[in-house]
Amino acid sequence: MIYFDNNATTQILDEVRDAMLPFLSDQYGNPSSAHALGNKARVATDRARKQIATCLGVTSSEIVITGCGSEANNQAIIGTLLNHMDTPGKNLVISAIEHPAVLATAQWACKRFGFECRIAPIKIKDHQIDPQPFLDCIDENTVLVSVMAANNETGVLLPLVPIFKAARSVGAICHTDAVQGIGKIGIKPLEVGADLLSFSAHKFHGPKGIGGLFIRRGIKLESLIHGGSQENGRRAGTEAVPNLVGMGAAADIAQNTDIEAIAKLRDMFEERLLALYGNKVHINFRDLARTPNASSVQFKGQDGNLLLIKLDRQGFCVSTGAACSSGSLTPSKGLMAMGLNQREAAATLRISFSKLNTVAEVEALLEALPKIVKKN
Ligand code: PLP
Repeated sequence: MIYFDNNATTQILDEVRDAMLPFLSDQYGNPSSAHALGNKARVATDRARKQIATCLGVTSSEIVITGCGSEANNQAIIGTLLNHMDTPGKNLVISAIEHPAVLATAQWACKRFGFECRIAPIKIKDHQIDPQPFLDCIDENTVLVSVMAANNETGVLLPLVPIFKAARSVGAICHTDAVQGIGKIGIKPLEVGADLLSFSAHKFHGPKGIGGLFIRRGIKLESLIHGGSQENGRRAGTEAVPNLVGMGAAADIAQNTDIEAIAKLRDMFEERLLALYGNKVHINFRDLARTPNASSVQFKGQDGNLLLIKLDRQGFCVSTGAACSSGSLTPSKGLMAMGLNQREAAATLRISFSKLNTVAEVEALLEALPKIVKKN
């Protein structure tokens, strides 16, 4: 099996698993317990929190651990809106290509709580995503602007800095879903002007079932999970110690990811693919700033779902777009929001690399593709 679906999830690194193992066996203490076993867990979770904070260039007290990236996005959006319930006529602004963990949450919360959900369309200008449609949506009634750092389907980076500058000027909270950012673009919330930033361990070689939200010092969010005083009273529940230790180790390693090496592998794939197929393939958004690991490829006139199935039979894991819509027959809404038509979106495969992929694996894929694509 050769794995090229690293935007869906990544393999847990051996170092990460090894760091977790003691906490899955004899180190089973509860970090809130006052005895020695509890203390060991507390030391380990404090260390992990520090590793995550260091990776993001922030302080430990600004990190709230969550059960996943989706929860972090829910906390950011719902937690912000709950602070503005008594002032009617407010709005929030998101992009048209947000992951459902932002899009569905924003739409649900706006409908439920009486806010206007403004969805900024994606326009490409001078080989970059134009911030203007976002600026057009932001006004003095905007309470939250939530824009992803990197798109999960294409790897395309969004222009956070000018958007958040405009948001800040009207006093709105700035949130970025950076689930596809860590380990790929070395994102730092303070550099892009984010007040809130979501992340998820399984996207950067950590375990599933754990993520977190950076909450800039001074920003107050309503909590969603009430109970004990964990996470400084911001998210109740006994810490998932093994997962948190794993996320800390993964964040520590992610800081030193050789991003250029991954980009080299991706670029080699794209160049060889173009040489092989000429204008029968099109690399979507190749001229835009992208994460180094993602390649969104249109096999013109082909059915991406069929290609995925055939590649799977040959032992290759790829995707047709967002993991949650893979296998569905409707082409990706995200790709269409980026300007592709239905046919183009349906012909697209997402090949997403990680530092664990090798040149030999890319060559194997390039060898397998012609047999599959030709027969289709
Ligand atoms: N946001 C983005 C951009 C994602 O790609 C994903 C996962 O695919 C999520 C949020 C959800 O993260 P999680 O799977 O940890 O809930």
